[in-house]
Amino acid sequence: MPAAVPAWLSVAGPSASVALGLAILIAGAAWRSGSLRTSGALAASAVGAIALRAGWPWGGFLICWFAWATLGSRLGRARKEQRTAGVVEKGAQRDAVQVLANGGVFAIAAAVALFRGDPASQAALWGTAALAAAGADTLGTEIGTWIGGTPRSVRNWRQVPTGTSGAVSAAGSAATVVSALVLTAIAVAIGLVPAARWWIVAVAAVFGAIVDTVAGALVQQRRWCPSCETATEQARHSCGTDTRHRGGWRWLGNDEVNFVCTASAALLAWLTAGASA
Ligand SMILES: [Zn+2]
Repeated sequence: MPAAVPAWLSVAGPSASVALGLAILIAGAAWRSGSLRTSGALAASAVGAIALRAGWPWGGFLICWFAWATLGSRLGRARKEQRTAGVVEKGAQRDAVQVLANGGVFAIAAAVALFRGDPASQAALWGTAALAAAGADTLGTEIGTWIGGTPRSVRNWRQVPTGTSGAVSAAGSAATVVSALVLTAIAVAIGLVPAARWWIVAVAAVFGAIVDTVAGALVQQRRWCPSCETATEQARHSCGTDTRHRGGWRWLGNDEVNFVCTASAALLAWLTAGASA
């Protein structure tokens, strides 16, 4: 029996050209303000156009997510840059790979909903869970880096430099959970997720962020700068020295881990939604 399209997803999106124009406008503004590199702006335009075309709730959620992530990156920026300068792989400007690692699964979900002509499909649940996981993980990292004190690696519970993947702090963990809840509430408020199923998205988002942390601690590649004698994620350290592989899987960097975060959240939401339908 075909299900009727519920009221919460009856908001059709703009035409393809309007969707693309709006997406380019927003991504262009982010590029101008320095949040995105050129490749990142191109990827974000594509993701945004697909989302807007899938419907206003999809596009609206993506825009709110981006505003939330940008707020997180702006908070205490100077202090964060100072604390992580020699550690993190890439700076605050996102490139295409980072954009797709965070938003790729969401874009696929929007495309599925679009091409099925069925915006009420479960794609809304797993797509939202994927993006909410990326947002929860991002805010956890941003807040933890800002006010989290010295984090501990979940691999061995030793204190590690701020910004190290797979490390946690109380402030960062709290921000992860709060962020998952805020993004889920936004998705419900704008009609992307039915209120009765909010918990599927929230739980899956937190799960994705946990997978991100555990993968970051156990299997993400770790590097070492021989001249500074310090751990880093940079292939060439900020001091100019080429770094050495020190552990983990060589091909698994921060972007790949972010993708795993969103994919695992989507998978859990999809399984849960199927089991509870
Ligand atoms: Zn160095």
